Amino acid sequence: GYPFVPGSSLKGVLRSEMERLLNGLGKHVCSPDKLCDPEKECTVCKLFGGREVAGSIRVRDAYTDSRRTMVRDGVRIDRKKRKAADGGYYTMEVVPRGTKFKGRITIENPKLGEYRYAKLGALLGTVRFFNATSKSLGGGVSRGFGEVLIVPRLIREITADDYLEGRYEGRELVSLIERDDLGEILERGELPMSPDDAVDRFIGDWKGYVEAMEDGGKEP
Ligand SMILES: [Zn+2]
Repeated sequence: GYPFVPGSSLKGVLRSEMERLLNGLGKHVCSPDKLCDPEKECTVCKLFGGREVAGSIRVRDAYTDSRRTMVRDGVRIDRKKRKAADGGYYTMEVVPRGTKFKGRITIENPKLGEYRYAKLGALLGTVRFFNATSKSLGGGVSRGFGEVLIVPRLIREITADDYLEGRYEGRELVSLIERDDLGEILERGELPMSPDDAVDRFIGDWKGYVEAMEDGGKEP
């Protein structure tokens, strides 16, 4: 079949990036091995799902339309003996550098507290943070594989009215500006989207929400 990025792995990576970001700001988030009580979920559980609740962000599998893969051989080294470990030869199937995967992320109700687009801003802010810092997904990172950039291309809003009226594509909020230096821009942590003040506004909603959170404590 075609190579793909499982939605669950991308979601897991975004979740831990957001945990890292909020922890760094001294805000309360639960840890993956001890998720929140369903009655009082932290922001990360609200977005990505908790023990019982599904969360508002859904990430679909991302596919590529190329079947091209390569097989790489590797050797696991036994550190003590300083030679190839017994049975330490492995092969892994990888995609060529530059392979593009396309996927879709859905946010149900982008509002958090009083902030209309806080969840959307949270997602965009996390993507920005990911591109500017870790850029890694999946296994094989230590062996030089799994470097990725996440490029938001198009953001649409679909309201309940849209559904009722049969406008299932909703309304376009922002879209990617094609640039030759896209990679560079993304790695700097910018999201080249138009209108660019829209992205700032969404992230502004998220910042507003985070600033209103008590340090280490309650949600606003
Ligand atoms: Zn939690």
